Parts: sequence; C-alpha cells; structure tokens
Amino acid sequence: MPVPRRYTTEAIVLSRFDYAEADRILTLMTPAGGKIKAIAKGIRRPTSRIGGSVEPFAELRLALAHGRTFDVVTQVEVLHPWLRMRDDLVSFGTASYLAELADGTLEERHASEAVYLLLKRAYEILDAGMAPGRVARWFEMHLADELGIRPEVDRCVECGRMLVADERYRWVPPLGGVLCERCPGPPHDRVGLSLEGLKLLKAYQRMDVEAIAALRIRPEVEREVERAMREFLAFSLDRSPRSLAFLDEIRRGEAEAPAPARPLVPA
Ligand SMILES: [Zn+2]
Repeated sequence: MPVPRRYTTEAIVLSRFDYAEADRILTLMTPAGGKIKAIAKGIRRPTSRIGGSVEPFAELRLALAHGRTFDVVTQVEVLHPWLRMRDDLVSFGTASYLAELADGTLEERHASEAVYLLLKRAYEILDAGMAPGRVARWFEMHLADELGIRPEVDRCVECGRMLVADERYRWVPPLGGVLCERCPGPPHDRVGLSLEGLKLLKAYQRMDVEAIAALRIRPEVEREVERAMREFLAFSLDRSPRSLAFLDEIRRGEAEAPAPARPLVPA
C-alpha cells in the first residue's frame, strides 16, 4: 500500500527547537507512528496561524505532509493544553522529565500506542493535581513494563524464592530487582530496601494510579522508592535524563524557601 502523502494524527509534543529563521523542529509522540520528527514552517513569525498552539507537553491533532527529511505540519488543533500542569514548577519539571524518558527510550517510527496512552494518562493526572512524584513513579514503573524491563519485586532475582515479610532485602538494579538475604549477590551495588519500600514498589506495579494517589505513605519511603527507581532506570536505560537535574533544583529551591512569617508566640 503506498504511503499517503498527507495524514492526520494525534500527537504529544515531547520537545521542540528553533530552526532556520522562523521554523521549529518538533519531536512528537504519536499513537500509531511512534516517535516522529516534524517541521513547523514559519511558526515563529507573528503572522503564523499555528504559532502559539504547538507547546511542549500538549496533545494536538495535526495534519502532516510527508517530507524528505521531516514531515511538515500543515494544520494544528489543540486537544488538551493541560494548562494547570504548567502552573506549578515541580509538576512542569515532572512533565518534562516524563517527556524526556519517553523520547529517550522510543525509536523513531516504531508504533507504541501503549506508551502514548501512558504519557497521556500521566499528563491528565498531573493536570488534575496528583502529587508529581507519584505520577512520575507510576509512569517509570509502567514504562519499564512496556520496554520489557519490569523490575522483579516478588521473588529474589538470584534464587527465585518468594520474598517474605520478615527478611532483609537489597535493591540491586544490575540484577533487575530485589535480592533476598540468603543470596550473596555482587560485591557492590547493595542498597538496603525497607519492607515499606518494597510494598510501595509492588503497589506501583499493581495498583491503579488513582488508588496510588489515595495511599498514605511516609515521605522517607517515597524518597527511598524514588532513589530505587532512579538507580534502576539509570542502570537499565544507561542514561540520566537532564530534566532530573532541573527537577532536583526546583525541589531544593522549594525546600529552602523561607516559610511565611509567623508570630513567635502563637495567638
Ligand atoms: Zn535469593
């Protein structure tokens, strides 16, 4: 079947950069075509009909024409701008981290509808105000699943024994998950994992994202699982997303921000 010259698709903008005098190159995630690069010509001119509508992390419906190097955007309709997600720096930083993860792990023009739907769902719930850290962990876990690198959290990665509640576990990303207390494992890369941390990792694999939003979790455990997933992805994907540094910086800034002034003596 000949490739149609023009087509329409839904797309999430993963990133964009300026090109030539007034153009932009977009990296798009699409349900049927996977990751594609497209050019929006003249978009930076004030007279452009589509300027302003092609924001990163928005869902669009695009009309495109096949081009030699890049497909050419001919029409844009904004389906979901997800504006509230952009109001908060941590939530915006998280959106850019998820886009970078998707961008870095998908090959161009490989259909990946599952990852598209995952990213779309993550942006919907970020926009609805769910804690960005939980959205990020949920996305990381399910992306790992889609990429075929789901971490093992039920059985020991070495001996295959079901993990039980009263033993000491170690989180060993190079082995793909949790190591039981009986197995020696490699000499380094040993990080203890608490029972609560293990339970939370299981929850991210099994529970619906809305149920995860309702969980009461101690901040230390959230941080433990964040570190665990970060190490796991850094090892499994062999990359450290640049947006993580940005996100860390924002969160440090928020933690150090002076608390609002209060009277010394409670009234
Ligand atoms: Zn074992």
